[in-house]
Order: sequence, then structure tokens, then C-alpha cells
Amino acid sequence: MCLDVPMLKLTNTLTGNLETFNPQDNSTVRLYACGPTVYNFVHIGNLRTYVFEDVLRRHLASKWKIRHVMNITDIDDKIIKNSIEAGKDLKSFTAPFTEAFFEDCAKLRIQKPETVSYATEHIPEMIDLVDRLIKNGYAYREGDSIYYRISKFGPYGRLSRLDKRELKVGARIDADEYEKEAPQDFVLWKAPKEPNEPRWPAPFGEGRPGWHLECSAMAMKYLGETLDIHCGAVDLIFPHHENEIAQSEAVTGHPFVRFWVHGEHLLVNGEKMAKSKGNFFTLRDLLEKGYDPLTIRYLLVSVRYRKQLNFTFDGLKEAKTALDRIKEFVFRLTDAALKAGRNDRVGSATRTARDAFEAALDDDLNTSGALGALFILIGECNVALASGELQEDNRTEILDLLKIVDERLAIVPPMEHSVLDQEIDELVRKYTEARKNRDFALSDKIRQELLERGIVVQDTREGTKWRRK
Ligand SMILES: [Zn+2]
Repeated sequence: MCLDVPMLKLTNTLTGNLETFNPQDNSTVRLYACGPTVYNFVHIGNLRTYVFEDVLRRHLASKWKIRHVMNITDIDDKIIKNSIEAGKDLKSFTAPFTEAFFEDCAKLRIQKPETVSYATEHIPEMIDLVDRLIKNGYAYREGDSIYYRISKFGPYGRLSRLDKRELKVGARIDADEYEKEAPQDFVLWKAPKEPNEPRWPAPFGEGRPGWHLECSAMAMKYLGETLDIHCGAVDLIFPHHENEIAQSEAVTGHPFVRFWVHGEHLLVNGEKMAKSKGNFFTLRDLLEKGYDPLTIRYLLVSVRYRKQLNFTFDGLKEAKTALDRIKEFVFRLTDAALKAGRNDRVGSATRTARDAFEAALDDDLNTSGALGALFILIGECNVALASGELQEDNRTEILDLLKIVDERLAIVPPMEHSVLDQEIDELVRKYTEARKNRDFALSDKIRQELLERGIVVQDTREGTKWRRK
């Protein structure tokens, strides 16, 4: 490992410990994340997980190369049921939800993984995996379906710390939705029950893959037999991730994943989200209520991934206030007339903030700590701006730091001025002129017009400035 790369520590669910992370080849991180099941719009609980994975990805990418793979589950019980009800084939039923998922991700500034893999496009890889599991005795036939024999896999339950005595030997489950209380032999390949169910031919009989199978097959296809990091939400630990380990390690004999990293739940007003409670929100619901995607991302980022996040509308309001503070600061900083040179005190505060920001993220992605470091700096710089201490070179250093903050957390409001700016500049010029002529009726009218366009004007020592609300 390079000496100038600070140590990244992550909590590994497999050991329960905070461990120093390095990619196995010291160069490229092989990262796998479970993706959505595309039969409806994702809710903010799902999006919290994708935002956490995005911050993890961005932070890893600041140190190493990255190969990030995410699956799209485009076949499962619910998809089959809903597509049949809608009278559509699988692809035309799932495609709009897949598209909506990526639209939602883009709105929340979630970067796209290097590889997005669709379950239905990897059936041969899945058939091969089942074939190998049958041949080495880890899978067996019951009726026309194929099941995984968990009693044969010694380490079963290690990730979720299940008591092995709870194993229901010989009990089988073939639904994609699982009971959580006890491990049972799970289905690898499901024989069709209805004549109109989608199916693929296989040496062990036609059917379709069980849900767990796809992640093992696709992760190993794109990332090799041992992944550096596998992430997902805590509710996937059992049985999904436990079953991924059992399937993969039974055929390779190697550890499937070095680091398991799991994001905690999101609650709404202190309760689990449920449609029946009226506290179930998709991103679309929140945007319709007038919330800005950046505010929602800020709220999701502001709580460390390992802590439960209680989503409230007051929380969104606070997120908006925090973002406004950043925006206001950037506005003052970029527009201030500054002396040339560098103030050492401000320079060292900037360096401290930068180190604290990196150290917080290296400490198991402590995003709230990282934001804390930013706000301490903003407080100090606001004072330095008012007293005239902040100089040209300080501004450059602070803007560099803000760029890093944005690369990592993607929460800095946009700073670029658009083409419409000229139009607004012209209105602001008329506003200033009106004030100079003490025509306050006119200046108020223009101020109101600007406000309606989302522009706030401010009278400062250096003249009238404007910014977006
Ligand atoms: Zn998965």
C-alpha cells in the first residue's frame, strides 16, 4: 500500500469488526451491490441504501480504481404476477420501472455503476452454477424444482450469526419472499406452476432462477470468485446474502466476499414505512410535494450509514437550511473583492477542515462528521470574510476543498452561472438604478419580479448582488 493513502476503515458484517480496507490487488476495488426488483417505483428507504453505496463508491474511487457491479432483478414472483395481470411480457413490464429507477438515481446524483447486469440476460451463467451445485451434492431435485441443501454447507449462518440448531433440515421454501425466522433449503431453479409463466430450458428441466442465484452468478462473472466489498441494506443479510455465500463458496471453495458492508434502515416519523400507515414515500411523491432532490440527498447523506435514519419533514426543512448556508457561503466567497495573497490563519483552518473531512470519511464513512468539518470552516470563513482577513489564495484553497466535498458527497449546490444570468444581470442593473434614483416603487416591483424567478437580491458593500433561492 502506498504510504500517502490514508487508511480506510469499514465495519465488516462478517466479523462484526471495524477493519482496515484495501483492495485485494491493491489497485482496483471489486464492488457488488444488490440492485432493485423492478416491479414498481423505489421508495426513499431503498434510495437511502443507494445513496450510501454512492458515497462509498465515490470515497473508494478517490483512492483506487473501481469496478462496481449492480444487478437488476427483472424476474421474480411479484414481477411474474404483476406482468401477467397487466397482460404484458416481462421486458415491456419491467423496462419502464428500470428506466424510472435510473431517473430517480440521476436526480439524487447517484453515479451509475460500471456494470449494470440484468438477471434475464444471465440465465446461462445461472444454469451453469446450478449444474455445478447438483454435481457436487449441494443441490437436489424435489418435484421439478432444484433446491440448495444448507445442511451440507458448514459455514451457513456465519454472516447473520444464526444458531445452527435452528436449521430446519429438509424444510424447503420456493418463494422469492422469505420468512425471516428460520433457515430452510431454498429454491435455486423453479419449475413453472402456471402455463403462462416465463421459463427457460435447462439440462435439469425447464424453469426459471430463484432470486438468490442471480447475484452469485453475476457477481462472480464480472468480479471473479472473491469480491472486495459486497454491500446492501441490512434486511438482505438473511437470507439473501447468507444464501449468496452458500451458493458461491460451495462451487469455488474460496471466500466469496472479503468485506460485507450493510446500510441501516430508514424510518419515517419513527415508524417502519408502510402504505397502510400513509408514511410510504417514493422520490416522485416527495418531488410532487415540492421538495428539491438535493435537499433529499443532503438529508440521506447527513446521517451515517450504520445509524437508523428517521426521515421527517422537519428533517427536510433542516436539510434545506444547511444547504442554504452552503449556498450563501459560496455566493459570498465567490463574489467578494479580496486582497491578493494568503492569510495563514484561514489557510490552516482550511487545511484542518480538509484533513478532518477525509478522516471522518475514512472512519467508516462518518458522513455527519465530514459535514461537521465543513460547517466549522464555513463559520470561520464567514467571520474572516467580514473582517477582510480572507485573501485571494484562501479563496482558491476553499473552492478546491468544496470541489472535493462535492466529488465525495455530491451535496454542494450548483455554482455555475447559466445563460439566463445576463437577463437577470440586466434586471438587477435596473433595480440598482431605481434605488439610486430613490424610485422605491419601481425597485420593489423589480425585486418582486426577480423573487418570482427564484432570484434574491442583496445590497452589499460592493454593490447589489444576486443569487438563486
Ligand atoms: Zn443480491
